[in-house]
Amino acid sequence: MTVIVTPRGAPAKPVVKDDSMLKQKQMMAAHYERLTSAPETGEKVISTFVPGNLNELVMCFDLVNNLPEVNAIQSGLRKQSGAYVLEAEKIGHSEDVCTYVKSDIGMMAKGNIGPNGKKLPNPNALLLSYTGCFTFMKWFELLREQYKCETIMLHTPYMGDGKITRNMIEYMVKQIKEDVIPKLERISGVKFDIDRLREYLKKSAKAEDDLVNVLQSAKTKPSPIDAYFGGIYYIGPIFGAFRGTDDAIEYYKFLRDEVEERIAAGKGPVTPEGDMGKEKYRLVVEGPPNYTNFRQFWKMFYDEGAVVVASSYTKVGGVYDLGFRHDPDNPLETLAEYCLGVYTNRNLPMRIDMLANYIEEYQADGLLINSIKSCNSFSAGQLLIMREVEKRTGKPAAFIESDLVDPRYFSAANIKNRLESYFQMIEQKRSGAALERGAA
Ligand code: SF4
Repeated sequence: MTVIVTPRGAPAKPVVKDDSMLKQKQMMAAHYERLTSAPETGEKVISTFVPGNLNELVMCFDLVNNLPEVNAIQSGLRKQSGAYVLEAEKIGHSEDVCTYVKSDIGMMAKGNIGPNGKKLPNPNALLLSYTGCFTFMKWFELLREQYKCETIMLHTPYMGDGKITRNMIEYMVKQIKEDVIPKLERISGVKFDIDRLREYLKKSAKAEDDLVNVLQSAKTKPSPIDAYFGGIYYIGPIFGAFRGTDDAIEYYKFLRDEVEERIAAGKGPVTPEGDMGKEKYRLVVEGPPNYTNFRQFWKMFYDEGAVVVASSYTKVGGVYDLGFRHDPDNPLETLAEYCLGVYTNRNLPMRIDMLANYIEEYQADGLLINSIKSCNSFSAGQLLIMREVEKRTGKPAAFIESDLVDPRYFSAANIKNRLESYFQMIEQKRSGAALERGAA
């Protein structure tokens, strides 16, 4: 069932969302209320990043997580990030710095008001599970300067050789045992209980099963989901503050049922303008989306009948579809393995494998790369990725450019032109293949 809602302050067109999207929005709103009420409720707050977040461990200490990237995304969607980015540049941050960082810094400079219009609390600690992107480290140095609170660093070795070794796991478990847990105990005043961690991990695995089922539903034709634009909604709870909770189990079960209903009805994805029409192109997308013009960007796809059937961005907070599940029987090792496996910690050959396999498994027409101006972590090597994936799959690839939350780098006309040429390229490839089949 779809529900029509009219966004606050929007002039005309109502936005269509399915029930799971509304449920997700309510969960996120409840989390922001909890966060901004922390000074009154006395709950302690920890800032940490999405890739490699240790939500189950954080919950063992009754800490509430605050994710700076999610705050930046919310500011982007609400069209506030442009002013925050400018503010950060005024303070001296270069134009090339990741705009999540500048949005966060600018937001702090302007009073640190969260998406619910209330002030975000100062964190009691910063927890950095360093997973491949150097910016994370520099970002937390800035936050440490600002908040002068305890900083905890969990170093995740980069998967340079494309595999996780026993040594890597042991190295990380040692840090968790000897540094991370004692500091979290001290900050929170709560004693660590490994059985409590096991319980949360068990819940994580259950929700992860349902998430994978939803993501893999895109193998169906027509795909019942859009695994990039719609995918952003689906990953919200599990990449954020809800992994390990009953709320996440309930949400992913609900979402899975909803998607199964769509498959049974032979429906495509829900777009902001209702059910998508005929599926004409199936794409795999690499790179984060643009958030300042999210709807306009999405529309360029669904207007053309293009659906994203798999994306790398929906793997930044965990690559569950390749088999990883949080394992309650090995609680600390599983946290280490989780951090090691996230997309930002994977080397280029691993990224190429993943994308090329997606094209085969999801019967996609090709690869589209959205190169983000200010995200070095994703952008490095994307041209090489593009050429390699094209070579291996024989499917056409294309390159567009935008930015995360800086509206100055969203050029609608350019992107639209390139997408239209790309769709033509796919058509030509198809007719070429049909001719070849006819001649054979
Ligand atoms: S991965 Fe990209 S968007 Fe995320 S912090 Fe690093 S540079 Fe910024």
